[in-house]
Amino acid sequence: MVLKVKVRLKYSQNHIIWLFKRGRGLTGLKNLGNTCYMNSIIQCLNNTAILFTYFCNGQYLEHINRSHSTRGAIAEELAAVVRALWSGQYRFIAAKDLRNEVGKHQRAFRGSEQQDSHEFLTILMDWLHLDLQFTIKPPHKETLGASERAWHEYTKSKESLVLRLFYGQIRSTVRCTVCLANSPTYDSFSNLSLELPPHSARCTLADCLNLYLNGETIPGWNCPNCKEKRDAVKKLDISRLPPVLVIHFKRFYVDPKEYMCNAYRKKQTYIDFPLEDLDMRQFSLDCPGNPLYNLYAVSNHYGSMEGGHYTAYCKSSVYGKWYKYDDHLVTEIPASEVRSSAAYILFYTSCTRS
Ligand SMILES: [Zn+2]
Repeated sequence: MVLKVKVRLKYSQNHIIWLFKRGRGLTGLKNLGNTCYMNSIIQCLNNTAILFTYFCNGQYLEHINRSHSTRGAIAEELAAVVRALWSGQYRFIAAKDLRNEVGKHQRAFRGSEQQDSHEFLTILMDWLHLDLQFTIKPPHKETLGASERAWHEYTKSKESLVLRLFYGQIRSTVRCTVCLANSPTYDSFSNLSLELPPHSARCTLADCLNLYLNGETIPGWNCPNCKEKRDAVKKLDISRLPPVLVIHFKRFYVDPKEYMCNAYRKKQTYIDFPLEDLDMRQFSLDCPGNPLYNLYAVSNHYGSMEGGHYTAYCKSSVYGKWYKYDDHLVTEIPASEVRSSAAYILFYTSCTRS
């Protein structure tokens, strides 16, 4: 496994053979009343090879942390679901305990109304990071570059497998158009949330990434160097690429004509994205790690925000084929079906098994 995670993974031969038994990981999730948004995300995470191994082999038990408000319970309930999905015993299961636990900490996920799978994923990542947190020895600050120092200030030596797999960092540079002075700041992310190019029915993932990274003009910026209001240009660069890169498309927007009633509209733009060898070098600063990514999961959204439906397309790391997870139904699909205008969140991995 080409991945620099200090959590040593126990990938025994027996475990691999066990995974190859028929139907492992091809278990559906019952819809508990508009919980397809949750089911879609659980299936995408359940097909994240390092994460399901960590839950299935019990290694997560060494890291359960009860010092935050979720008290380790979200990670425990997700682990129970993942283990059941990989047991090969069920056609589908009902993730009731996980749903109840999630609902305790976020009211919106308690009811039976449709929710946003992106919002659920973002909150779930933060909870899992807290629930599985361990402390590392702090590095010597003098030896760190600006990006690493900002990363360390963000993590405060508290790490988790979830942090190491999914969290990256963005450098934001605001440059004065007169004196050219710039001031970089750093922010961490667990997924990139990309706008779609306006007025186009088709675009590519590269178009969306360029739109996101290639700056905006900030008129009347207070330049600390000129000590006057100047126009400035803001530019983003990825300064830390995570081993698992999650990309969200901002398909939902409030129609300006219906601003008063807060009605969400959805962009049906068809986005062309690579299934293999997404090269992130052109979008990032020179950062360590493998810059080539392969797609392994997609959270899809169909219909409108209020009356929509979610599914997941996932490539099984065990069988090497794509499957559609539509609540309790799991069916094999050809790779040619994976790209569609329903694609809402993409999961890419740069980890290769060796
Ligand atoms: Zn200036």
